[in-house]
Amino acid sequence: MRFACLGSGSQGNGLVVEVANTRLLLDCGFTLKETLFRLSRLGLDPEMIDGLVVTHEHDDHIGGVERFARKFRTPVWLTYGTLRGVERRFARVPSVNIIEGYQRFSIGSIEVEPYPVPHDAHEPAQFVFGDGAFRLGVLTDTGRSTPHIEATLNRCDALVLECNHDANMLANGDYPHRLKQRVGGRFGHLENTASGELLASLDCSRLQHVIAAHLSQKNNTPLLARSVLSRALNCGGDWIGVADQNDGFGWRQLSNL
Ligand SMILES: [Zn+2]
Ligand SMILES: [Zn+2]
Repeated sequence: MRFACLGSGSQGNGLVVEVANTRLLLDCGFTLKETLFRLSRLGLDPEMIDGLVVTHEHDDHIGGVERFARKFRTPVWLTYGTLRGVERRFARVPSVNIIEGYQRFSIGSIEVEPYPVPHDAHEPAQFVFGDGAFRLGVLTDTGRSTPHIEATLNRCDALVLECNHDANMLANGDYPHRLKQRVGGRFGHLENTASGELLASLDCSRLQHVIAAHLSQKNNTPLLARSVLSRALNCGGDWIGVADQNDGFGWRQLSNL
């Protein structure tokens, strides 16, 4: 299994997971042109994507899904709650598959395990991807961690973890009061310290990759996110990856060490 990122943050998200000959794109928050450019950077043609899996209906995650799915006839997976907000727009998407009750499903060789998170969307889902040997846990767009999130992400081989903001930078920054409350609230975005505490609570004995994701460009820095996660793992900051808004990150491989 390997994975890579097209870009991460409030301007657009996209993560590619590959197992053998199957590839899926988790979220697509970019224009079609931008998506194709970012895929080509990873050596991928759009026809190589076998499925689009959507976490929730916010534009930075779903904005580019409909055009991509129609143009390349790519099947889409999302929850009823996510579909609710976009049903009209998605009427001409050739294949829409519902994730019901956060039940597991497969796309080709990729096992997909959805799980619920507290976020201000209708029915948000985050995911663990597996190939039978390795598990990649992805968590962004969650206001808090929960016992269920911790149980789900335990003993993963790789983690992409939201480090949205630094609490002090958010409190002292120039966001309007309501936006500060939304971002920092129970249904907003995961703050650095909370992300570090979540990581510290997990069995990390199998971890090969940890990547901080969905960083706020105004209320966080890669250095802060790295230092919080590296402290949680007691490792060097260099070991922690950061998903960039423009560059995402390149391929990360999971292998028997
Ligand atoms: Zn988002
Ligand atoms: Zn969101």
